[in-house]
Amino acid sequence: MTALSIETLTARHGLLEAVRGLTFSVAKGETLALVGANGAGKTTLLRTLAGAHPVHGGSIAVNGEDVTRLASHQRVRRGIALVPEGRKMFATMTVAENLKLGAMAGRKGEWSIERIIGIFPNLEKRLHHKTGHLSGGEQQATAIGRALMSNPEILLLDEVSLGLSPLIIDRVYASLDGLMTSGTTIILVEQDLSRAMAVADRVICMLEGKAVLEGRVDELTREQVTEAYFGLNRTRTEKVPA
Ligand code: ATP
Repeated sequence: MTALSIETLTARHGLLEAVRGLTFSVAKGETLALVGANGAGKTTLLRTLAGAHPVHGGSIAVNGEDVTRLASHQRVRRGIALVPEGRKMFATMTVAENLKLGAMAGRKGEWSIERIIGIFPNLEKRLHHKTGHLSGGEQQATAIGRALMSNPEILLLDEVSLGLSPLIIDRVYASLDGLMTSGTTIILVEQDLSRAMAVADRVICMLEGKAVLEGRVDELTREQVTEAYFGLNRTRTEKVPA
């Protein structure tokens, strides 16, 4: 079953078309990785899906229902949750307050503060600390937890590894592992191609607002994705950067 589908979706920054007529769909429970160089349009796409950036053209549907004209809080109620790039926490609020904020959409589901602590045990002793005082990894865990508290069907993760040490990135991904196998539909933006291909079922490579490559990770080679990433038109014998 299709969880999310977009049709010739376009989003702009002024005259710049950052997302240029994208069409794709994501199946329920699937993990889709969006990859592409800086400026390819990945963040704009996720923000547009979440209703944080206006749709210029085309349409977005969740479970077959058109949500194109809905505001972001209405899309949260339909089950879309965004973990934005740079985490965007309310720094003067505590972890617990941030998590409770996520629950305000009022969607029924199994997520609770206890369950968030189950996947991010480090947050337990931080619950009553202001998020501005937390480490990057703890802030990221809070941001993901806040999104999960809305009981999303579709979780949009924008560069969750940004600014974190390799060890913490491993921990964050290990925590997401359970989600990925539990039926939550995930669209993630990840700069690290190896990680993207390791965790996702399918990958879309964006270049200048368009999808230049799309396929199941087990049917694509890293070389194909790298070529699409850089917009290269190589012959097979040329060396591809590591
Ligand atoms: P990054 O990995 O750097 O976040 P991205 O693939 O997420 O890149 P976007 O951030 O969506 O790409 O940017 C797509 C295009 O839109 C780029 O050309 C960028 O310069 C432009 N852009 C992004 N945000 C704005 C903005 N607030 N105002 C004007 N142009 C913007």
